[in-house]
Amino acid sequence: MILTYRQKLRSTRAQHRLLLERLERQRLLYNAALQERRDAWRLARKTVTRLDQQKSLTVVRADDPEGHGVDPANMGRWTLKRVEDAFTGFFSRAGKGGKAGFPRFKPMSRWDTFGLLEVAGLRIDGDRLRLKGMDRPIRMNPDRPLPADARILGVTFTRTGRDWHVAFTVETTEVVASEAPTGEAVGGDLGVEALLTLSNGERIPNVRPASRRAREIRVSRRALARCRKGSNRRRKVKARLARQLRHVADARDTHLHRVSARLTREHPLIVLEDLRIANMTRSAAGTVAEPGTNVSQKRGLNRSILDAGWGRLVWMVRYKAARAGGEMVLVDARGSSQECRDCGAVAAKPLSLRRHRCPCGLDVHRDVNAAGVLLARGLAAKAAGEGGRPLGDANVGRRAVRRPGTLLAA
Ligand SMILES: [Zn+2]
Repeated sequence: MILTYRQKLRSTRAQHRLLLERLERQRLLYNAALQERRDAWRLARKTVTRLDQQKSLTVVRADDPEGHGVDPANMGRWTLKRVEDAFTGFFSRAGKGGKAGFPRFKPMSRWDTFGLLEVAGLRIDGDRLRLKGMDRPIRMNPDRPLPADARILGVTFTRTGRDWHVAFTVETTEVVASEAPTGEAVGGDLGVEALLTLSNGERIPNVRPASRRAREIRVSRRALARCRKGSNRRRKVKARLARQLRHVADARDTHLHRVSARLTREHPLIVLEDLRIANMTRSAAGTVAEPGTNVSQKRGLNRSILDAGWGRLVWMVRYKAARAGGEMVLVDARGSSQECRDCGAVAAKPLSLRRHRCPCGLDVHRDVNAAGVLLARGLAAKAAGEGGRPLGDANVGRRAVRRPGTLLAA
């Protein structure tokens, strides 16, 4: 199965500088490659392909060993792939007639990642990461080793202020649990009031970013708005804000990891909502027929954190279920809050009504009922043999490069 392992690097000051130089060289390469494609398109209506650009990269590297020549060639190829992705996205959006947004040049403030396409020029020895062109290995977290048989398919390095994170996409067979979960199948309703409500009645709360953090972030945002563009102070405030947002995201991630780990340990089948299908009933503003409550609080930062949280939770449950020998099914959640879990009767109810009371006698929290409806839909989908969307690890590593990489020493 294909998994992603992400962790913080313990880079020294000197290594931080070397990584920064790399980041900057890859940004310049990105912009140069973008320029070439733009010119070719504008002047000659000609499309430059990634292969064309890879060939010129080889020439550039031979001409300029001091510059791009010091980085592994596959690092440049990763960047060119990003240019290609930007154009693919542009043409597909333009084809659909939407607002296309021509790919833009990346200023330093919008470029924080470089990576390796296929894995050459990188070696892992225990908790040390050796990168071609750097004479000393970078220390990693010794408590988060990759599985012994992991084959690395791709690597990215991401900068947040002074911190660097590395994400390995690996293929491994090692992680199937010794005992499969033995509990009951369960449905889960993702929500604003509680992160997840289970069909067995359990409510799992959202992680509350400490109000102190929220205040700090507000202060930083305001300070940033007052800074002059391009000023030193603006750069500093921006770095501080990035650090604060990262702390909030980390706290949320820890919570999501705990929740998803427990779910997949206990339940062999977990049915969740397919978030790719819009569900209007859950938007903060509600609909005209069902206006929401506390709209202003639910909008903005809080909302975006919640939205990102749902997607991440589904993603975590998917790969952890596959790892634990269980299964996740995604279903269309539309109408699930209006339908009765027990008798199937449909009755519209306003968002303000928090209980589901049905003539059949069922009287439960509305989210518990909705979770029960999702579970029934998931079981029906499984019985019908279609199994909802792709299950288990089938699309965990969809973005991964499925090319042979180097084998890791155990
Ligand atoms: Zn009923």
